[in-house]
Amino acid sequence: MQPDKTRSKIVCTIGPASRSREVLTGMIEAGMDVARLNLSHDDHSSAKETFETIRSIDDTLAIMFDLQGPKIRIGDMKAPAELQAGQKFIISTEDFIGDQTRVSISYKELPQDVKPGDTIAINDGIIRLVVKKVRAPEVTTEVVHGGTISSKKGVNVPDIKLSCSIPTDKDLKDLDLAAKLEPDFIALSFVTDPSEVKHVKEIITSNGPSSAWVISKIEHRLAIEKYEEILNESDGVMIARGDLGIEVPIEDVPVLQRDLIRKANMWAKPVIVATHMLESMTHEALPTRAEVSDVAHAIFDRADAVMLSGETAMGIDPVGVVDMMNRIVTKAEKRITQVNPGDMTSPRKAIVEIIGNLVYNAVALIPQNIEGIITATRTGYTARWISKFRPPADIFAVTYDPAVVRKLRLLWGVHPVQYHQDVNNVDDIIRESVRTVHGMGLIGSDKDILFTSGIRYIPGRTNLMGVFHVRDFIEDESKPQA
Ligand code: ATP
Ligand code: MG
Ligand code: MG
Repeated sequence: MQPDKTRSKIVCTIGPASRSREVLTGMIEAGMDVARLNLSHDDHSSAKETFETIRSIDDTLAIMFDLQGPKIRIGDMKAPAELQAGQKFIISTEDFIGDQTRVSISYKELPQDVKPGDTIAINDGIIRLVVKKVRAPEVTTEVVHGGTISSKKGVNVPDIKLSCSIPTDKDLKDLDLAAKLEPDFIALSFVTDPSEVKHVKEIITSNGPSSAWVISKIEHRLAIEKYEEILNESDGVMIARGDLGIEVPIEDVPVLQRDLIRKANMWAKPVIVATHMLESMTHEALPTRAEVSDVAHAIFDRADAVMLSGETAMGIDPVGVVDMMNRIVTKAEKRITQVNPGDMTSPRKAIVEIIGNLVYNAVALIPQNIEGIITATRTGYTARWISKFRPPADIFAVTYDPAVVRKLRLLWGVHPVQYHQDVNNVDDIIRESVRTVHGMGLIGSDKDILFTSGIRYIPGRTNLMGVFHVRDFIEDESKPQA
């Protein structure tokens, strides 16, 4: 499939409304770049089936496994139930199928940890209960803010310390599945310390999927405090605003979002903004103006990707919502906040970053002479440092490895392209790259391209930048190349 021309990327959660071949195909055509399988909700057999369906439709699409982490959730429900403000509602640590009056909970210590007057929030804080009486195994509450609850919705109990760290036993089982299927990204929920990310990386390095990128979900107060260290251990981050908006005052979220994106950009780590982006489209045909504006502002803030959750997992029109998101980001990305490249250079000042900065400046000075940027990349490393400056030209990241092609789907402005011949010397790499990108109809032949690569294949050794005329590579093959 041809890489889609939007520069901002779209992550979609796959669930009951979207796991059919037909809907997935429609979502891919509408602009999905990454399919997210939430292991909190999917069991292994359905995750495996969905995974294989996606790969069989388009093996250039990236797949993310999102691990539950130490999150408290309600148990299964017979059917979704509408809770009304003022009604009594019981939460119990016993196992049963929930209904309008009571539900079970995964956190067995709840009766010890709460007291009358405490607030319990369900479903990203939309539903609020106040504790009235505690008698183990039951906690009796009164509904303060009502709403619909359904199976396995998340629960937040402010001030309870989650005693277990990442990975949980369930995460380890889910990582076993990941080792077999090899998703491209592993997202970790409720990261609170960089050591947790490191631990998961060690596990996947030895058990697989060894080349998967680990994405830390920023949704806990401690993750904000240790953000830079967590960023340093992670391959990317997700600003998971659902839980974050309960963990910190909700009015802090937009400001945090901007700061967290800025730091991720500085270190060239892809950053996803998630939760409630087009929430009303779960049930309605059109989003609210505020939602449209929220999606656009995530792009103005220079996020790499925006994410859909319930909208595509269980909404009425998953294809329509991807199409809407694609339309919004296509408009917004033309007006991202301009930043002086010098102001966003990391303290490290590695050569790869200097090259990223130079590429940006060259394109910004002579946009009319440039067909695009071509970067030959073995792991995606160079592409990340070019993308971080958000240069005003297409970035074609050429690589031999199909797994790298998929991961590059997450990077802003990057169109991954696979070449089919594993070439090694500089002349061959430049020639093959330009020919492949031109052969796919992605660039014309009248202008120049900016080319970057490492002349030795070691990540971090990006050390070459050149300007080449496209026609020189495609017309007279007998002419000396490069
Ligand atoms: P997280 O905190 O990881 O985002 P979440 O419960 O908010 O967890 P989302 O992935 O944001 O879950 O999806 C939103 C909702 O869509 C879920 O609460 C659930 O009701 C539904 N959903 C998502 N994936 C599935 C699935 N595989 N099967 C059933 N329902 C799903
Ligand atoms: Mg969450
Ligand atoms: Mg969510």
